[in-house]
Amino acid sequence: MTPEIIVIGGGAAGMLAARRAAEGGAKVTLLEKNDRLGMKILISGGGKCNLTHAGPMEQVRAKFRANEARFLKPSFYRSTNEDFLKILHDRGMATYVRPDGRIFPVEPANAKDVVALLTGYVAEVGVNVKYGAAVTGLVADNGRMTGVEVGGKVLKAERVIVCTGGSSYPATGTTGDGWKWLTALGHTLVPLRAALAPLYLSDAEPEWSGVALRETTLRARSGPGGKEFMRWTGDLLFTHKGLSGPTALGISREIAERSEESAVEADLSPTQTWEELQIDLRRQAIENPRKTAASLAAPFVPARLLEPLLTSAGVAGETRGAYLPAKSLNKLVTTIKGWPLGTVRHVPLERGEVVAGGVVLEEVDPQSMHSKVVEGLYLCGEILDIAGPVGGYNLQAAWSTGWVAGEAAARL
Ligand SMILES: Cc1cc2nc3c(=O)[nH]c(=O)nc-3n(C[C@H](O)[C@H](O)[C@H](O)COP(=O)(O)OP(=O)(O)OC[C@H]3O[C@@H](n4cnc5c(N)ncnc54)[C@H](O)[C@@H]3O)c2cc1C
Repeated sequence: MTPEIIVIGGGAAGMLAARRAAEGGAKVTLLEKNDRLGMKILISGGGKCNLTHAGPMEQVRAKFRANEARFLKPSFYRSTNEDFLKILHDRGMATYVRPDGRIFPVEPANAKDVVALLTGYVAEVGVNVKYGAAVTGLVADNGRMTGVEVGGKVLKAERVIVCTGGSSYPATGTTGDGWKWLTALGHTLVPLRAALAPLYLSDAEPEWSGVALRETTLRARSGPGGKEFMRWTGDLLFTHKGLSGPTALGISREIAERSEESAVEADLSPTQTWEELQIDLRRQAIENPRKTAASLAAPFVPARLLEPLLTSAGVAGETRGAYLPAKSLNKLVTTIKGWPLGTVRHVPLERGEVVAGGVVLEEVDPQSMHSKVVEGLYLCGEILDIAGPVGGYNLQAAWSTGWVAGEAAARL
């Protein structure tokens, strides 16, 4: 008997699930509400698509929180980053690894080409893709899947893979639909929160918008001068409303999880200790007595931010370094090592690259992605309580869990 499977959601997880299930001998229908597959992949990595992360899967897995990493272990070993790249390479798309381990298509190929390739990959095995098919509910009887509601009708199916994604960037089609259906069937959710999202500051400086700081450590504290609870090193981008870029995204989940207000500060010289920087600036001031405080501070920020940095340190830029009192020099060092950028008023969930929270992992079998609540139901991708860091980790989680769900659902 040929199993009939409905896959709901043609994103990263859904495409892999549909392909794998059809390859495993199932008759597969993929229902996608948009008129194309992979809308979120199209905007991934700024349109370039950070496909996955390089390295052994053990290392890739270790970047997730402990419970998520435990859950991902079987799927990450069953369907690896190399396995995914082979799909692309076999179909003529070259990829390269950036020095930080992030993997992208070799340009001019971009996210659009990735989606086109994967759309073909799904079609190769005869998956019946239905576009404009917005599912409105799941139907189960006595704890077993019996069908899917779409267009006012019920499509019968005893095996259903739900991969409707998260709820950020709702214009891409991910409006959190799956969570409503799953809770109605008895699944529970870890509360949804922003992750990999920009930070909106209480006193944002719109005129700094567009300025970027390279190789900066952004730290989060429980209020100004409070205990540090998260840090991330990389690029930092100022926006109209506050901060973005990998560092802001990297600390956003931890900030969003806290009820009290968080303060953020930038270490503009993360490779030096406070003492090393102080000795360095003092030496420069002595060796070049005419050097001003402004030129001592200039290497640490773009020109537009030099004056604000000096103001924050309480140091007049034109003061010759040689005449700078030790107290002022120390204040400059302290500001370079931890420039207070303000308090975070909001972390917008809808602007996140992923949503933290989702279906409780204990309710899903990590070997098969089969629901432990409803027979015949499989869950994969971002709908689960999984949110990795920036770097290709989230797409890898979707590729791997999708693959395993498709494989398991096709098994008789
Ligand atoms: C701006 C941005 C940039 C990103 N960049 C990267 C990156 O470079 N690298 C990386 O690893 N991750 C990146 N991510 C995260 C990554 O895109 C997601 O983790 C991944 O797409 C999740 O895959 P998924 O299949 O679970 O969900 P999605 O890819 O979101 O797919 C869900 C699909 O379900 C469909 N759907 C939803 N509801 C219904 C319904 N009712 N009926 C039918 N279909 C429905 C949606 O239309 C969608 O096609 C980025 C995310 C964003 C927002």
